[in-house]
Amino acid sequence: MAKNSGKNSPKHEHCSFCGRGRDSVKVLFQGADGSNICNDCIEMGYKSLESSELTSKQEKRGAKSSSFKAEDILKPQQIHDFLDSYVVGQNSAKRSIAVAVYNHYKRLVAADSAGDDVELDKSNIVLVGPTGTGKTLIARTIARLLGVPFTIVDATVLTQAGYVGEDVESILSRLYQASGYDVEATERGIIFIDEIDKIARKGDNPSITRDVSGEGVQQALLKILEGTVVNVAPEGGRKHPEQKFVQINTKNILFICGGAFDGIERRIAQRLGSNAIGYGKVNVAQFDRKNTLKYIQPQDIKGYGLIPELVGRLPVITYLEPLSRQVLRSILTEPKNAIIRQYNRLFEMDGIELTFEEQALDYIVDKAIEFNLGARGLRSICEAIMKDLMFEAPSADIKSFTITKQYAEQKLEQSDSTLLK
Ligand code: ADP
Repeated sequence: MAKNSGKNSPKHEHCSFCGRGRDSVKVLFQGADGSNICNDCIEMGYKSLESSELTSKQEKRGAKSSSFKAEDILKPQQIHDFLDSYVVGQNSAKRSIAVAVYNHYKRLVAADSAGDDVELDKSNIVLVGPTGTGKTLIARTIARLLGVPFTIVDATVLTQAGYVGEDVESILSRLYQASGYDVEATERGIIFIDEIDKIARKGDNPSITRDVSGEGVQQALLKILEGTVVNVAPEGGRKHPEQKFVQINTKNILFICGGAFDGIERRIAQRLGSNAIGYGKVNVAQFDRKNTLKYIQPQDIKGYGLIPELVGRLPVITYLEPLSRQVLRSILTEPKNAIIRQYNRLFEMDGIELTFEEQALDYIVDKAIEFNLGARGLRSICEAIMKDLMFEAPSADIKSFTITKQYAEQKLEQSDSTLLK
């Protein structure tokens, strides 16, 4: 850049980028070598930097890139390892999901490479397991890893089009919103449908009654699971009749369904009992009666009341185990965003070193088990214990604080929280 010369003397100062003189710009910054830059050029430079950073980030995450490359796909082991940092235990579910997601992305690569004559089926997943064992957490973590849009819907609010409630299509509006209104990203997103068991057909005989809220919804879901082009209202619902529809192809959207399927163990045990050496080659004499869920097969969820066509579209079925005491204890401290780590971080921001005694942590787990609250209870119990301290500590002159079992007991007993009921 030119040295400060006569033409850049205060009178003739101009922006070295756009050439405008000092009089035509708001501010002119001078560099060490005498060159100048005006406020408008700084702003433009910043904007182009920001957008190029964004693009490269999005490309890396695959959210916007127009095609997937085989070498970018994470291997099942890598997916599993990532899940491990957020989800404690549930190894079987993690392995099945890792493979399903891996295959899903291979499928996208195959779809992108023209002339491939073997079309790979979608690997939609069903997670069966008691509430609060990590089904949503797994789905959410997968979406975070892949950097694709993600949305959760509760199957119980869905109804057939024309009935009170949300149309099945509204799921896609939500995914579209989560993608930042980007059709291409939406078409590669993940939808988690929670409580899928609640739309089961009542009774095994489909002809007894037309069951609008159950079978009708299943039929509607089936269409989007199979892959179809749906007219989606960007803002969802029927509140904005004037909005323009966008077309979303659901062919490459991955669906993960979760449900507790209460009582399904009995069904599995019956099946195992009635065919001594069953499909899964389980010897009845040695099957693990305490954990029947691990033998779950598609026919069990069909028997529970999901229509066969829908079951056929959910080829990957896996289970989650009830959380043992030991797992609950690990959930408190081990995952990357474990509850206790979050409190430590919050206090650290006030310059306070927070410590939890081992006995205090054991006490929290005991209470979660006693109230039968599972992992969800851990947070509410911690909140009840930490409430006063979080109010008082920021203005108290302390550098450290230890949560003892006695402190935890005292605070939880004082708490008027409804969790104790
Ligand atoms: P579900 O969908 O099975 O009902 P969630 O995934 O919503 O349960 O779990 C509820 C909360 O409990 C999660 O936000 C998470 O904090 C915690 N949690 C449950 N299971 C696990 C697990 N296996 N590992 C870590 N945290 C868990």
